[in-house]
Amino acid sequence: MKVIDQSFEIDHFEPEEDIRRITRAARICYKSGDLATHEERCKFVSRLKKRNPDNPHMSPFEHSSLSVIFITNRGVSHELVRHRMMSPNQESSRYCCYERDRFGKEVIFIRDSAIPEGFMLEEWLSECENVERNYFNRLKLGCSTDTARNALTNDVKTELIITANYREWRHILKLRCSKEAHYQMREAMIPVLKHLKKELPCIFDDIPYWNGNEVVYD
Ligand SMILES: Cc1cc2nc3c(=O)[nH]c(=O)nc-3n(C[C@H](O)[C@H](O)[C@H](O)COP(=O)(O)OP(=O)(O)OC[C@H]3O[C@@H](n4cnc5c(N)ncnc54)[C@H](O)[C@@H]3O)c2cc1C
Repeated sequence: MKVIDQSFEIDHFEPEEDIRRITRAARICYKSGDLATHEERCKFVSRLKKRNPDNPHMSPFEHSSLSVIFITNRGVSHELVRHRMMSPNQESSRYCCYERDRFGKEVIFIRDSAIPEGFMLEEWLSECENVERNYFNRLKLGCSTDTARNALTNDVKTELIITANYREWRHILKLRCSKEAHYQMREAMIPVLKHLKKELPCIFDDIPYWNGNEVVYD
């Protein structure tokens, strides 16, 4: 058994090309032609979302998309795949047999930040060991992975890739970085939001997140 932290990786990220496509789509509306530099396009894109606060011009943001690979637990992944305007693919607990060599013959769990060091952590680790034991036991008794997987819990690690256009990423990040989101969802999504705020501020700078004490925009 192994315990790891959540992580993410941006797959196929071309900010300049993405901004160029969004700008082109918007400028087709106004028949205003292309802009010369990436910086000019970023300023233009930034203005699109501010132009009319009640009714911002968001459809051009649908012309570029982004894929993010998440290592998370099955609880968070279950919530994430509820968004319908995006395309997910996820590690299959039916096809992956964690007893095999290529899975290290172990079940991997995602660390839970709400469980403090000491007695609680020892209890949690012992629960995870039981989960792994029950899973392997089912396989030993001749069950298929289809049946063995039912012994797994929401703490178990999974990997999924989500591809969505920028408009949908803004929507997902707004919901999933908020105070109301599950803390492990926030732990998965806020690092993505911070990364995107740095790489593409013209698209993501206005999206807030809950830092545990207050709503922040940095
Ligand atoms: C804090 C939080 C708590 C939650 N708790 C629960 C819970 O307890 N139980 C539960 O089942 N779910 C829960 N959810 C999931 C939630 O109900 C949604 O399934 C999820 O947020 C995705 O919905 P969406 O509107 O954001 O996006 P999508 O479902 O991806 O849809 C995107 C947008 O498209 C439009 N749209 C999509 N489909 C339709 C349609 N059929 N008709 C009209 N418009 C449509 C809407 O404008 C929608 O906002 C929770 C979500 C959050 C963020």
